Amino acid sequence: MLSRLHISPLILLLATTSLARAQDLGTLTPRQLPQLTKPDDPSIPAKQLFGRKPEPAPMAARAIGKYSRGCLAGGMALPVNGPTWQVMRLSRNRNWAHPEMIKVLERIAARVPKIGWPGLLVGDMTQPRGGPMLTGHASHQIGLDADVWLTPMPDHELTRMEREEKMATNVVNDTWDEVRPEIWSPTYIALLKTVADDPQVERVLVNYAIKKALCRDVKSDRSWLGKMRIVFGHNYHFHIRIKCPADSPECHPDTPPPSNEDCAENVGFWTAHDRFRPKPHPPGPEGRQLTLSDLPPACHEVVIAPRAGAAKLE
Ligand SMILES: [Zn+2]
Repeated sequence: MLSRLHISPLILLLATTSLARAQDLGTLTPRQLPQLTKPDDPSIPAKQLFGRKPEPAPMAARAIGKYSRGCLAGGMALPVNGPTWQVMRLSRNRNWAHPEMIKVLERIAARVPKIGWPGLLVGDMTQPRGGPMLTGHASHQIGLDADVWLTPMPDHELTRMEREEKMATNVVNDTWDEVRPEIWSPTYIALLKTVADDPQVERVLVNYAIKKALCRDVKSDRSWLGKMRIVFGHNYHFHIRIKCPADSPECHPDTPPPSNEDCAENVGFWTAHDRFRPKPHPPGPEGRQLTLSDLPPACHEVVIAPRAGAAKLE
C-alpha cells in the first residue's frame, strides 16, 4: 500500500493540473477522436456522444435541462472575431451557445471599450450540441454559460497559434486569499459591473478573492454584487451564466442569487475554516459518468439529429 508520503507529490500534481484547467493549452492539430464501436450502448458516457458532434443539431434553438445536466438544440457559433471580442482556443470548438447568449456576449463586448477594457477574450462556451464535455466543466451544457478571460483583448487580431497558446492573467495571489494588487484595478471592477448589469445575466462566477475585493472596493452602487458568486478557480477567467430564455420551456432555472449584495454571508462562508483554499483530492476512480438516460429525453433527439444538409439514410 502506498503511504501518504509517497502519494503526496502525485496529489499535488493532480491538484495543480485541475486548478490550471483554464490555462490548458490548445493545439493547431486537434486529434480526431476514434469512432465509437457501440454508439447505441446505453452505458456509454454522454460526454463521449456529445464530444464527437462537431456541428449543431439543426433544430429550433432550445436550452434543454439543467446547466450541468442537459443539452442544446439549434446552437449558434459566436464568430471568432468581432469588433470588440476574439475567441480563444479554437481547437476546442466550444464557441457555441443558445442565440440569447450570443446576443448577451455581443452586447457586453460592445459596452466594455467605454470603461477602458478594449474587448473580450472569450474562452469556453458550449459544445455545438451542448451536453457533458470530455474535459473540464460540470456545467456549460445548455448553451447559457460562457467563460471570459481576465485579460484585456490585445490590439491586434490574434494568430491561430496565439489563440491556442496565450496564457490568461491570474488575478489572484498564490495563497488564494487576495487579488494581486499589481494587477487588480478599477477597470476590473467596471468590467465585472458591466457584465452583471446586463439584465439577462443571472450570475457571474468568480474566485473568492475577487468577490472579497469587490465587497471591499466598490463604493457607490453595490446592487450588482449579489450576482457575483464565489466558485473555486475562476482566477484566470470569470463565468457568465444567463437566465433561461423564453423560447426554452425545458430549461431548468437555477435558484436566483440573493437580491442583496451578499458580501457578509457569501464571503464569510468561504472565509470560515479557510474554505477558499482548494483542497487536493486524493486520486481515485472517476465518479459515475452521466449517460443519455440521465439527461432530459429531448437530448436523445438532439444528439442523434443528422447534421444540416446531411442525406437521409433510408
Ligand atoms: Zn465556466
